[in-house]
Amino acid sequence: MAATVIDGKLAAAAVIEGVKAGAAALVARSGIRPGLAVVIVGEDAASQVYVASKGRMAESCGFKSVTHRLPADTAEADLLALVASLNADPTIHGILLQLPLPKPLDPLPVIRTIAPEKDVDGLNEVNAGRVALGDFGRAFVPCTPAGAMVLIRSAVPDLAGRHAVVIGRSNLVGKPVAALLLAADCTVTVAHSRTADLPGLCRSADILVAAVGRPEMVKGDWVKPGAVVIDVGINRVAAPDKGEGKTRLVGDVDLAAVAATAAAVTPVPGGVGPMTIAMLMENTLVAATRAADRT
Ligand code: NDP
Repeated sequence: MAATVIDGKLAAAAVIEGVKAGAAALVARSGIRPGLAVVIVGEDAASQVYVASKGRMAESCGFKSVTHRLPADTAEADLLALVASLNADPTIHGILLQLPLPKPLDPLPVIRTIAPEKDVDGLNEVNAGRVALGDFGRAFVPCTPAGAMVLIRSAVPDLAGRHAVVIGRSNLVGKPVAALLLAADCTVTVAHSRTADLPGLCRSADILVAAVGRPEMVKGDWVKPGAVVIDVGINRVAAPDKGEGKTRLVGDVDLAAVAATAAAVTPVPGGVGPMTIAMLMENTLVAATRAADRT
């Protein structure tokens, strides 16, 4: 059996269309235009690319988009002062701190300073707590887990009672994905680097989510026939076939092998990745809508 390859670009485009319509409707009913502020510190090349594409996407959704570029030697106090000013700015509804921060800056105090109602990346402890409690009416769900869930629901409309195995327990991906699957009435097992017999555990999964950061770790014989496999991993590996020094992106799943067994699988690139930025736009629209409803 050849698995369906879930098209994350198509799903992301559908989310973005909904956000554009929602933003236009919000402006029409309240005069409030969603505003997203992205803060980037330092010159990390990959982060610069991500930030530029977030800014472009925000503008294409009809949002106000502001990017604050700070030098790598920015003091923590200056970063906290910028976040405080964005918290107080009524035209900004979402604040995104691009990670990683250059050393020695610690992201935690900065993330804690972002007002929970503007924490559209869902990273501060108030939103993590709300996600853990299932309080989705007030939470911001982190963008990658939220995007993974949209793809899972597209492949498995009835999640109740399914066994989901999540490999990875990070605060950014693994834990919130597990919380979302639990809230959707899956039976959830969270695996990590100390899990015994990981291949055997994975073979018991109806839904397998890999969020590990190890290239093509999940092999074909780790997957139950008919399972849905969601590959969150993004790993850059050498690609000598493309020429000397060339690289390519691969996920945590051996896509070719797993596609022979699974019912559906997300590719890398083009799976969960495009959903992340789409969910950031959706969260910003939600933040602006909640702000409009408070006034
Ligand atoms: P972390 O490094 O924070 O967490 C990795 C998790 O994988 C940990 O819980 C770790 O276990 C577990 N792990 C590591 N090795 C093994 C192993 N051999 N067997 C089982 N579990 C293992 O990574 P993130 O959660 O931040 O990211 C995971 C992947 O997702 C990365 O490839 C990242 O690039 C990608 N990513 C993709 C995004 C997207 O937009 N598509 C966004 C964010 C991340 P332990 O806790 O025991 O150490």
